[in-house]
Amino acid sequence: MKTFDIQTVIRANVKAMKPYSSARDEYISDGSKMVFLDANENPYENGVNRYPDPLQRNLKVVLAEQKNLAENQILLGNGSDEVLDLLFRAFCEPKQDNIITLPPTYGMYTVLSNLNEIEERKVGLDANFQPDVDAILSATDKNSKMLFICSPNNPTGNLMAAQKVKQLLNNFNGLVVIDEAYIDFADQESWISELENYPNLVVTQTLSKAYGLAGIRLGLCFASADIISVLNKIKPPYNVNALTQQKALERIQNVNAVRDEVHSILEERTLLIQALETIPFVNEILPTEANFVLARVDDATKRYNALIAKGIVIRNRTTQPGCENCLRFTVGTPEENKKLIEMLQLISKS
Ligand SMILES: *Cc1c(COP(=O)(O)O)cnc(C)c1O
Repeated sequence: MKTFDIQTVIRANVKAMKPYSSARDEYISDGSKMVFLDANENPYENGVNRYPDPLQRNLKVVLAEQKNLAENQILLGNGSDEVLDLLFRAFCEPKQDNIITLPPTYGMYTVLSNLNEIEERKVGLDANFQPDVDAILSATDKNSKMLFICSPNNPTGNLMAAQKVKQLLNNFNGLVVIDEAYIDFADQESWISELENYPNLVVTQTLSKAYGLAGIRLGLCFASADIISVLNKIKPPYNVNALTQQKALERIQNVNAVRDEVHSILEERTLLIQALETIPFVNEILPTEANFVLARVDDATKRYNALIAKGIVIRNRTTQPGCENCLRFTVGTPEENKKLIEMLQLISKS
């Protein structure tokens, strides 16, 4: 097992601070009937007049069992975007530390490093959109606190090779954050099962994609209990609202519904790829393990605008490194995909 001391990456101010102690932290219900006059809430019941559980225990009990982890290895946030922001604020000293990203990838890592005044060192993926391990390690120094690996990657759709990820976990002396927003669509298991072997591993997931709950904003973070306790210390006390906790709990317990939807999205993805292969202006379809397909076309901006005119919005990724003339298609319902394919055939005639 790798040796790694989390104490060496926590910011000094975070180490020194005391967390805000909320009413719900100071008195933890044992289930007995109490009169709650501690939090200045309106006492009249309407379903949400009370503050939510700051540690979302009901949700974590179920998640811990499903993911085969301890509850203290889980942090929940207002989307994975909040989880990622907490990681920056816990571990990266503004104007001093740096992070490594592997473009083309998810845009939030750049936004968060700008916001937090952390230098972003970009080490481009190779021609197969895989990490260049040597280049990544030579771009790092003692102030490199986090390495972001998105797998399956957005916008390319591919998984990062396990051997390369292991080399990085073993040799990068900061946190390796694996963003698994699309893992439920992939033909590979989550890196969660490796948490016990790599104390510097952080895995993030979300209910926004496969679980169909983008609107409630729930992001998941899995790591060692030591890492999670640092994030708990700095998070806003009530960062996951009561309605989100309730809706998420219902959904994650409905394993069959989620599995069936993922299954049909994957079937539709196959059909979409087959259709794209017949479109004359599509030059390359990138292999995907996610609920979207990246395809290289003759003129991305022209085709993007033509689809908009036909009432279909996709994502033009042509400005991303290595993605010249690439369009990203999210897999929709069978009806939506049929309409997309019809319109692709139609616009290919102009
Ligand atoms: C969509 C997406 C997320 C999800 O973010 P939320 O804030 O949880 O909705 C995270 N990472 C990647 C790479 C994504 O594409």
